[in-house]
Amino acid sequence: MPSTGAKAPPLLVDAMLGALARRLRWLGYDAEYRNDLPDEEMMAIARETGRLLVTRDRALARRRGVRALYVAATVLEEQVAAVVDALGPSGARSRCTVCNGELERLTPAQAAPLVPPYVARTQTEFARCRRCRRVYWPGTHWPGLQKWLEIK
Ligand SMILES: [Zn+2]
Repeated sequence: MPSTGAKAPPLLVDAMLGALARRLRWLGYDAEYRNDLPDEEMMAIARETGRLLVTRDRALARRRGVRALYVAATVLEEQVAAVVDALGPSGARSRCTVCNGELERLTPAQAAPLVPPYVARTQTEFARCRRCRRVYWPGTHWPGLQKWLEIK
């Protein structure tokens, strides 16, 4: 049921899907990732936080009392496609790929003390994660950032 412009639900991504979680964040999905919890606890967190559980564990996905999306694919690109097909586009801007925090823009002056001198001299656009404070700029390993920066 791809949505039309509506925001995708927040996600709780299960163990073994860490690469998927990072890619989903880049695509603007609110995707928390845990790989250290037993099933019962994952279910409890999903329920309490209203997150949709994304899992490769078919039995877990079928458990009663939790909203879940079962991802059968083992290849990252196919996993991403499965989530986007099921939920529709995120309808939101990229999030921090490391921690899922929201990004905020920084001016060059704000970013200068936070980045290597060469980067401060050569880049004019920056974003920072509100949660982990990581600073991003175009040309980092994150190709989606340029698009993010162009949005406003
Ligand atoms: Zn972060």
